[in-house]
Amino acid sequence: MSALEVDVVVAGGGAAGLFAAASAAARGRRVALLEKNERPGLKILISGGGRCNVTTTRSGKDLERQYGERRGRFLRHALHTLRPVDVIEHFQGLGVPLREEDLEKIFPVSQKARDVLDALLRDCRDRGAQLVTEAPVQSVRRTEDGFLVSTPRGAWRAESVVLATGGLSYPKTGATGDGYAFARAFGHTITGTVPALAPLSVQEPWVRELQGIVLHDVEIAALDAEGRVVNRRTRPILFTHKGLSGPAPMDLAGDIEERRGGLVRFDFAPSRTQEQLEAEWLEAARLHGKRQAASLLPASLPERVRTALCALAGCGDATLANLDRGARQRLLRVVKDLRVRCERSLGFDHAEVTRGGVSLDEVDPKTMESRLQKGLFLCGEILDVDGPIGGFNFQAAFGTGRLAGRNA
Ligand SMILES: Cc1cc2nc3c(=O)[nH]c(=O)nc-3n(C[C@H](O)[C@H](O)[C@H](O)COP(=O)(O)OP(=O)(O)OC[C@H]3O[C@@H](n4cnc5c(N)ncnc54)[C@H](O)[C@@H]3O)c2cc1C
Repeated sequence: MSALEVDVVVAGGGAAGLFAAASAAARGRRVALLEKNERPGLKILISGGGRCNVTTTRSGKDLERQYGERRGRFLRHALHTLRPVDVIEHFQGLGVPLREEDLEKIFPVSQKARDVLDALLRDCRDRGAQLVTEAPVQSVRRTEDGFLVSTPRGAWRAESVVLATGGLSYPKTGATGDGYAFARAFGHTITGTVPALAPLSVQEPWVRELQGIVLHDVEIAALDAEGRVVNRRTRPILFTHKGLSGPAPMDLAGDIEERRGGLVRFDFAPSRTQEQLEAEWLEAARLHGKRQAASLLPASLPERVRTALCALAGCGDATLANLDRGARQRLLRVVKDLRVRCERSLGFDHAEVTRGGVSLDEVDPKTMESRLQKGLFLCGEILDVDGPIGGFNFQAAFGTGRLAGRNA
């Protein structure tokens, strides 16, 4: 079978690939978008609990910082070329109005991820990009005048190839790391890959006993081996039968996995210093000696949590009048500095994103072209970029996809 001729092959029909294909086709390039699944964009459909948190309201340097210093610097151009406000305008133009919700997140007004995916597919089709499904790319080879891309459904010759095959997270959506092998074949380095944005596995009985409870206004932090804070979050925390889930714990997963486990520290009263708390507690003991020790803990904490914390401090039944200095210090430590060991997250099957991927030093951040192979472009999660929960990962996929499509 002879190979079909196009200008650009995009491998992978996820958020990055769909954006890249539409952007390249908009320049008049003949584009083939090859997707391994029967249906493209599965991850978009399940994102944000089926509602798709498309982007964020954060902007400028603040937005860049969310990805960490090195990754943020790499993304600077992509985030500037396609800012979150541009993403909002883009979808508005495609007939999908978006709106802001809690935690600076942007969702479709319809609350349907399906609308986001349909709009991206429509855009590709209207601009003339040809989508071929059930076409898993098996190899990408350099030829004299471009590339030869092979799939079981045939081969394509193209001047440029965009690798947008994603990472390793949620493999059932099609992201199984295929693109790493293609990139490696062109000399690219794949940095260590670990699950990120995943629930944390914690063995401590008190954590598991609190399953079903959600905490707000509590800080958790990942600590390094020396006890220094690597990352901290004050966002909702959900206790589960396996450990911890919800935005704050999930945001720490990449840092914990990178260090092959570590300590997670709870601060149940992040708006108070230890000294302030102690002064308040002494005053409370003077005024209300008959109250239980649990009454000292922030009123915003559910009763079950307050009871658990008092038990951990060994002052379960104590009243304020008979809470001695030792017990008070133990309770203070539990409230401000309770540490639990976490060896790992629940892994790639439950991770929203992959940390690690194609080394950023080997990709031009202005065009997403490989520095090692002319005509080869990379975008989305295949790259060593990841952001926290809150629309940052789609924002990065769309931005890098747009750059790749404009230059491929
Ligand atoms: C449960 C869940 C919820 C999420 N929610 C959000 C959210 O609300 N907001 C947010 O910003 N981010 C969210 N994310 C993260 C976000 O979905 C990803 O960061 C983003 O989809 C990455 O886009 P991508 O195009 O790079 O990769 P992917 O979306 O993984 O797409 C890669 C595509 O390539 C295809 N493919 C793989 N190998 C081949 C091959 N050999 N040949 C052809 N095709 C191939 C795959 O089938 C897939 O369609 C969520 C992720 C998960 C798993």
